[in-house]
Amino acid sequence: MKRPTILVLGAGYGGLTTVVNLQKSLGADDADIVLINKNEYHYESTWLHEAAAGTMSPESVRYDIKDVINSNKVKFVQAEVQAIDVTGKVVTTNVGTHTYDYLVISLGFEGETFGIPGLDKYAFSIANVKAARQIREHIEYQFATWSTEEVKDDSRLTIIVGGAGFTGIEFLGELGNRVPELCKEFDVPQEKVRVLCVEAAPMVLPGFDPELVDYAVKHLNSKGIEFSIGTPVVEATPEGVNIKKGEDVFEFVKAGTVVWAAGVRGNRLIEETGIENMRARVKVDKDLRAPGHSDVFIVGDCALMINEAVNRPFPPTAQIAMQQGDMCANNIIALMKGEPTSDFTPDLKGSVCSLGDSDAIGVVFGKKVTGTKASFMKKMIDNRALFMIGGVGLTLKKGKFNLLK
Ligand code: FAD
Ligand code: NAD
Repeated sequence: MKRPTILVLGAGYGGLTTVVNLQKSLGADDADIVLINKNEYHYESTWLHEAAAGTMSPESVRYDIKDVINSNKVKFVQAEVQAIDVTGKVVTTNVGTHTYDYLVISLGFEGETFGIPGLDKYAFSIANVKAARQIREHIEYQFATWSTEEVKDDSRLTIIVGGAGFTGIEFLGELGNRVPELCKEFDVPQEKVRVLCVEAAPMVLPGFDPELVDYAVKHLNSKGIEFSIGTPVVEATPEGVNIKKGEDVFEFVKAGTVVWAAGVRGNRLIEETGIENMRARVKVDKDLRAPGHSDVFIVGDCALMINEAVNRPFPPTAQIAMQQGDMCANNIIALMKGEPTSDFTPDLKGSVCSLGDSDAIGVVFGKKVTGTKASFMKKMIDNRALFMIGGVGLTLKKGKFNLLK
């Protein structure tokens, strides 16, 4: 049999974990492994809130893909995927086409705007490293402009964060530390700055442990951050957002910056494949293949799996994306050997939500954690992801070692 071509789309957590495992297990002559990614670097999506707030440089959240792949076994192509034809088995990119025997779609997430008018145009989304850099620079621009303009427009200094899920809360945690620095840097009195989080659900971090939520809200309030809960954003304009405060009651809040962190969907390319999907996420078979497509695996945020214990989808997380990458590599190798594939079951270890650099909340192995202990754990989790993909070398180069700050 001719050696198969394994084509992996996207070098995020799911795609890179798949490739790293394939290169560990296969010899150079066993398969042609091709990895396609838009950029020559991988970025840690789980650190993007830090780059967006400006508490970490965009450079720190990314690393070169060539640093973690073995070029004797994997061909890396920097290209933007434009179309995926699962019938003709062809992937089209901006620089050419690729055929495959096995395809892995791991193209990640996009911000979900639920069709709310104006959000696409007037709000930022913490969706990738370039978007994070743009948010950081936009906020700095607003502070710099306020301090130089003659007639001061204080609304420049209002930052609205839509959504108090994990992304919104982690971003607010960073802003809590960043705003005082910005005020000092740009000569802005801190009382002029307003950071408001608008959440549709009746609580912050809906569904999370109420005691931990209370801890997070108190911490963020102490940094001057305000919450408006049970009040969905219904529109964004160039001047700010419209918030629904009750039946036929709306409030318009003027703001210089609106960051939309109210949920994610899969990559839009999924919707054009003809594979059945919900918000660009495919309900994959237990072995991570797309239903009806025995040569197509989908991992990470483009895949959807139901947690039968609660009859709801597992949340789209890096934790699950990496575990799926492991299983996807094993299943491709099983198919190459003519062996049966295995079913994927997430091994959920818990979740930790940072509240800035030195505080956090979380539930780890069923136990609640807060404060510096939780923050330490979050950094260890971040370092572990580096280790799993790039070993000790990458961890030493990019890891977080201010562990007890
Ligand atoms: P991604 O990591 O999004 O990677 C997708 C890759 O595909 C990227 O490299 C992208 O450049 C590339 N790509 C996209 N489109 C194209 C194209 N057309 N052509 C070529 N390449 C393309 N999860 C956790 O478990 N723990 C956390 O602490 C955590 N923190 C988070 C913090 C933030 C601020 C955010 C936004 C998310 C966080 N998540 C966390 C969720 C986690 O980041 C995602 O679940 C995870 O990134 C999904 O991995 P993925 O491999 O599916 O996609
Ligand atoms: P999410 O879906 O978890 O939260 C979005 C929030 O926005 C919800 O609270 C929702 O009620 C709110 N919302 C929706 N529509 C709204 C509207 N019109 N107005 C105001 N609020 C609105 O999304 P996320 O926070 O972006 O997280 C995405 C995924 O990434 C999740 O699976 C999450 O667990 C994961 N994540 C994990 C971590 C971590 O583990 N530390 C950090 C960030 C993200």
